[in-house]
Parts: sequence; structure tokens; C-alpha cells
Amino acid sequence: MGFTTKALHPTWGYKDKHGAMRCPIYQNAAFEFENAEDLEAVFAGKKMGHMYSRTSNPSVEEFELKIKSISNAFGVVATATGMAAIADTLLALLKTGDNIITTNYLFGHSLSLFQTFFLDFGIEVRYVDMHDLSAIEKQIDAKTKLFFCESISNPQLIVPDFLAISSVLKQHNVLLIVDTTMSPWNFFDAKKHGIDIEIISATKYISGGGTVLGGLILDTGNYDWKNCTNIANFYKKFGPNAFIAKLKKETFRNLGASLPPQSAYMLSLGIETMDLRVKKSCENALKLAQFLQTKKGVVSVNYPLLEISSAYEVASKQFSLGGAILTFTMEDKASAYSVLNQLKLIKRGTNIQDNKSLAIAPYHTIYAEFSDEAKKEYLLHEGMIRLSVGIEDSEDLIEDLENALC
Ligand SMILES: *Cc1c(COP(=O)(O)O)cnc(C)c1O
Repeated sequence: MGFTTKALHPTWGYKDKHGAMRCPIYQNAAFEFENAEDLEAVFAGKKMGHMYSRTSNPSVEEFELKIKSISNAFGVVATATGMAAIADTLLALLKTGDNIITTNYLFGHSLSLFQTFFLDFGIEVRYVDMHDLSAIEKQIDAKTKLFFCESISNPQLIVPDFLAISSVLKQHNVLLIVDTTMSPWNFFDAKKHGIDIEIISATKYISGGGTVLGGLILDTGNYDWKNCTNIANFYKKFGPNAFIAKLKKETFRNLGASLPPQSAYMLSLGIETMDLRVKKSCENALKLAQFLQTKKGVVSVNYPLLEISSAYEVASKQFSLGGAILTFTMEDKASAYSVLNQLKLIKRGTNIQDNKSLAIAPYHTIYAEFSDEAKKEYLLHEGMIRLSVGIEDSEDLIEDLENALC
């Protein structure tokens, strides 16, 4: 079955007592048990069941199972936000004294998490040029546990070559963890590209209308958890489920960033139309990128599937679509702000992959906490505008940009 059919007709057996065609919102904290023995068995993990919604909840489970069937993942954990998914994953796999390898080209709050929180807890973070495989290999030592990056960096739109990177990491038993928010399953197959763990901000394409926050952690099934010394105790008990068990029975459970049942319901509804929305927004984004290239005053345009983009070769090899995000750069802050302030249809605001098109100047907003020097290093420009292209009729978006650029 295809993506949308699977989203609409789940193959697992949720049957509602009243024949409701949607899994209801189980808006409750705790669950009652027929007898004390059953309660004991669920606590001991000997019997399946929900006992307390911080650990699991039927509405959240329904969403996780839907994602599992669509993505072909080995295991899925839904979290309250994308940031919670990143933090839970890394905290489950790392111990003080370990190091990780990453890049400067990351979503601002991921970068902030690495530069502050992880350093404070004694995790060393090493930054490399993702296109330089020997530089990556040089950074690996006995304490290197994982490599973290984004499938398309937000907002630089840099695309790593995943099979090349994974071949280096595999030789040293280093996990490849990728934030794939920017490239959903309907145009990028993470498992086939050697990725071990996928992290997604469900707030974005999955929610669609920007209705709720949510995050996902996916174990693609590529990594043999036997080789992960930091979770050896879980491997002994749970075998290939070691990572998911470590999350569910320790990190995720104890940190408490659970997805609210109401949000699970919205995300479960959102996934049903995601393929349609992704295709429409990507089609619009390519059209807008091509249009912007012809405009006077626009210094440069970037979109992964634009032939002039430095990401084009790797992006077109790995992705069948280019994503919702493009950037274009004006001469300076004043000209960028003039464009932003003249937009009538496209909203000024943060968030990406919404149904509505959104524009922002990342240099002055998302990256406000970083120094000018650092921002230059992150390839941000004072005149850069990030456009998250929605599903509007493309003619209307082009008209709005046309007027704003005058
Ligand atoms: C938005 C975003 C996040 C954070 O997700 P939240 O759901 O807002 O916590 C992480 N990575 C990328 C690439 C994002 O765009």
C-alpha cells in the first residue's frame, strides 16, 4: 500500500466500541485494572497495557503505530516536541565523557542545546565539514558515540551525502542520527540511506496547519544494538528493542516530555493529508525559487533542487522532491525588511511546513542569541529571507512576492 492509503487505512487492529472511525482522544492520566495481578504484570512489562499517560496512552499509541506502518521503522516513540525528541534520543545514548560529531549547520535551538546543555553535562561536541569524509573520520575516537545532522539544514539548505557518511561511521561503530524534519518519508527513505535514528518535528508537515507541537523518534532498524555499550543492560533484556526500551522505560518516561493525547489526535489526522500537502508545497517552492531568480534586487536564491544550488547534485540523488523551504538574499537588512513588511499574503512568522506560506529573516530572529561572527560562520546573511512555502495557489504567492519586491 502507498503512503496515503496506509495513513487512512491502518492495518493494525484498533476497533472502537462504538464503531467510531477515528481513535478517540483518551484524555485521561490513569487507567484502571480488573485485578492487582494485571496491574503488577503491566508494571513488570510482562503484559501490554496502559497504566499512566506519561508512559503510554491509547491515542498516542495509535499515532505511533500509524507512523511505524508509513515509515517502515522498526520502532517509534512520539514526544511532546521535536526538541524533546532530540534531547531524549541523545540523553538515552550518551554518558558524561562521551563525544559527538555534528556540524555548524543546524536548526538554531539544536545548536544552542549542543553549545550549552550538553557541554554543561560533560559531553564534548565536535564540529566538522560534513562534505569532508576524512575530516569526519579524524574526529572519531573511542568515546565518539554518534554523528548528528539534518537531512536538509535549516536554513542553509546544505544536504549531506548519507551513504558516504554512514560508510565511514559504520567502520567505527558510530551511530548516524539525522533530523529529517525537512525531508519527510514520501520523498526520502532514511533507512535506505544508512540512517540509524530519524528525528522529526511533527509540529511541521505532520500537523500541517501548525495546530500542535509534537516530535518523533524512529529506530530505522539499521543499527545492531548489540554494539552499543552505553545501553548494554537494555540489550541483554530487550535484544533489538534495546533503544526503544531504554527510551520507554527510562529516558523518555523519566524526563516526562510526553505527547498530549489531544495532540496525538491532531497529528494522526494531519498525516492522512501529508502526502498531498508535501507535493503541493514542494511544487510551489520550486516555482517560487525559479521566479525569484529572475528578480532584480534578489542577490541569490537557494533551493535544493535548483540547478545553481550547491546542494543540487546530492539532493537530486537522494530526494524526489526539494522540500518546502527556500531562501533568498537581499543586499542588506533594510532591503530584506522592506520585502518582509510589504508581504500581504505570506505571513511574517517562524515555523515551517505550515499550510500557509511564512517568511522570516533568520539572522535577526532564530539566531539572535549568536554573535555576528558565529552567524557568518553558519552561512547566515543579514539580508537572508527564509520562505516556508505553503499550499496556496502559486499565482497568488508569486503576485505577493512580485509586489513586495517592487
Ligand atoms: C522546528 C524544528 C525542530 C524543533 O521542533 P519543535 O517541534 O519546535 O520542538 C527541530 N529541527 C528542525 C529541523 C526544525 O525545523
